[in-house]
Amino acid sequence: MFVCLRLALPTPVRRLFDYLPPQHIDNNNLIIGIRVKVPFRSRTLIGILVEIAHASTVPSTKLKTAIELLDSKPLLPKDVYRLCCWAADYYHHSLGEVLMSALPALLRKGRRPVAREMPMGSTAAGDTFRTLNIAQQAAVTTIHTAQNHFRVFLLNGVTGSGKTEVYLHAIANILNNKQQILVLVPEISLTPQVIERFRARFAIPIAALHSGLSEQERLATWLAAKSGMVSIVIGTRSAIFTPFANLGLIIVDEEHDNSFKQQDRFRYHARDLAIMRANMGRFPIVLGSATPSLESLYNVKRGRYQVLLLPDRAGEATLPRYVVLDLRSALVKQGLSRDLLDAMQVHLRQGNQVILFLNRRGFAPVLYCVQCGWVAECKRCDTNMVFHREPCKLHCHHCDARCPVPDTCMQCGYTGLQPLGLGTQRLEQTLMACFPHVPIIRVDRDNTRRKGAIQDLLKKINQQKQAILLGTQMLAKGHHFPRVTLVGIVDADSSLFSTDFRAPEQMGQLLLQVAGRAGRAERSGTVMIQTRYPDHALLKMLLHQGYQHFSTALLVEREQMGLPPYSYLAIFRAESYCEERAHHFLAAVKKLNVPHAITALGPVPALLARRKGLHCFHLLVKASHRGILQNYLKSVLPEAEKLATRRSVKWALDVDPVEM
Ligand SMILES: [Zn+2]
Ligand SMILES: [Zn+2]
Repeated sequence: MFVCLRLALPTPVRRLFDYLPPQHIDNNNLIIGIRVKVPFRSRTLIGILVEIAHASTVPSTKLKTAIELLDSKPLLPKDVYRLCCWAADYYHHSLGEVLMSALPALLRKGRRPVAREMPMGSTAAGDTFRTLNIAQQAAVTTIHTAQNHFRVFLLNGVTGSGKTEVYLHAIANILNNKQQILVLVPEISLTPQVIERFRARFAIPIAALHSGLSEQERLATWLAAKSGMVSIVIGTRSAIFTPFANLGLIIVDEEHDNSFKQQDRFRYHARDLAIMRANMGRFPIVLGSATPSLESLYNVKRGRYQVLLLPDRAGEATLPRYVVLDLRSALVKQGLSRDLLDAMQVHLRQGNQVILFLNRRGFAPVLYCVQCGWVAECKRCDTNMVFHREPCKLHCHHCDARCPVPDTCMQCGYTGLQPLGLGTQRLEQTLMACFPHVPIIRVDRDNTRRKGAIQDLLKKINQQKQAILLGTQMLAKGHHFPRVTLVGIVDADSSLFSTDFRAPEQMGQLLLQVAGRAGRAERSGTVMIQTRYPDHALLKMLLHQGYQHFSTALLVEREQMGLPPYSYLAIFRAESYCEERAHHFLAAVKKLNVPHAITALGPVPALLARRKGLHCFHLLVKASHRGILQNYLKSVLPEAEKLATRRSVKWALDVDPVEM
């Protein structure tokens, strides 16, 4: 009988590919889920066998023959395979690319699924379980009752309220049940700290999965989780595809964090996939945050998620006090107001630490000519080059282009080029002049690239008594600085006015995350916020009434404007060196059959209209129900694919986008 292999191949094309089985193969060895090596155009590719068919739309004379079968049994367990199929369908991405992204690189390259023995670090546990307060105990008990049932919990607790302690107790219950646990964290810089804390508590094998590992280490961890040898896996976004022998709980820490959403190629949201995985596997999932996403709060409101509130800070710690500094009337020196500088003096003199938060790395965002007004711009993007010292260069933060700093103006030849605006390097220089005897530690992407760099900096910070920590949002995320009593937000305004409808939500989350670094131990904290808009309504509400009021107000606004979570969005993104091509492609997509229930907006130039020399346009589509949007996308995609090929436009679809 005629047999043809239907394969998912790692190409962007959203379809399966038919091949004849390798010659002299026993048909019993054809098993769904194994890897198969095949010729593809001028290359060879490794794909996954998805279907065995007895007919093909391709004439049998044109069918190519597969080269070899690489496995004797399926590589991915059924549940991960099912999750991948669901994700490919929901995000409308090529199944081949989705399945391959679920595999460690060595398996993608055709390596056999065996690894050298790896120490999984089941060593010195010395930490004991802390006594829980009433709210923590209630949360642990509730999670425990959901064992082996699908339920989504939103663990909503202010920073310092002891969420991690709840995780640890919940995990202990799952371990007693001989099940495994997956913990997702947003940032690679956070994993070592989290792992240390878990290893100190549990004398069992715990593994980390993140992009800082070697390919060998990743494969070893992947296999150990699959065989049940490790009990806890802690990882970033892509760890959601880890196979487990017996998974019993997923924890998503800092669930509001946007780094759970992949921003290129396969644009999935790891938190949303985690919920789907728990649903398919019938086990509980805990989403934790001090500043939950509006999506999760809305799901609590609709009764889909159960909220677990931790209202108090654990131990003696109290919530910080907020002071708003009006930059319009204040005496300002290099971006720092007199009041902030004075307060820093006081806190440092008491032997405490201060954090200054500025979400802009480099020395100055602009280099300009005082004579003619010329500004150094990136040649390939519609943006300024950022001026960096140490090393001295101009750097585009969008396309990574670098060039030496010119001595003279490129337009008029004048020699007086000036940096304009404030970046972390410039602020560091100012602080060294103002506080010559205080250690100043800068934490941003420029000085944390090296593996282990962030751990070294954190160690250095915790060894100091008085110190000034200065950094971008890297500093805001989860790190524990018990000596910090003052947090200064140097510029709160950059996020107050943005065209992205999610900007206020993100501003509030970031501000509270930074503020949460203050006064985590016995010392109470102060947060000083510099702004030119001290009367901004949302800012006032956030500071005076707290995140709950703030988020409720934002939800009301979203409902009135018909925005998510009250509607569902997808963005067609198109890029081309030719501006018209990208625009025309999206205009043509918009003309395809758009039902009444779908609103299509655009095409409009992206926020950064030109990046790496490519012109970028967006077409936004919106529906009041998920199903309507999904049906529309399904019906329109094959046509869109044809249009794009005809116009040779690079394009992508982003379902549930988090960045506009
Ligand atoms: Zn000039
Ligand atoms: Zn650039």
